[in-house]
Amino acid sequence: MDKKAFFDSVTNMEEQIGDLYGQLSGLKDNLQIVLEENNRLTIENTHLREALNQQQDVPAEDGGDKVSETTQTVTPDQSAGHDNLMQLYKEGFHICNVHFGSPRTNGEDCLFCLGFLGHKNQ
Ligand SMILES: [Zn+2]
Repeated sequence: MDKKAFFDSVTNMEEQIGDLYGQLSGLKDNLQIVLEENNRLTIENTHLREALNQQQDVPAEDGGDKVSETTQTVTPDQSAGHDNLMQLYKEGFHICNVHFGSPRTNGEDCLFCLGFLGHKNQ
């Protein structure tokens, strides 16, 4: 391979790496969007479960055996929702309403998140 062809080849490779870098950057942005959306949905799902459970906890006026059966399934759902949020926090994401699903900077603790988790533990 002559020197000019070699130089052209390296230049071509450099351009390809530049293109790949751009694509990688785009993929990373998309991944972050998907992760944050997933986190938001996990949090929303937990809140919806809790709202549903609270509704089911209210004794129905026409209540019967069916209501108490439904209520018995509440506790596992609640703890599962809490576990999901705790897991999300441990993985380095906010679960508080303030930053909602975004990554925690440098894994630093967030007082809002900790307050939220503490409140849930009571
Ligand atoms: Zn937070």
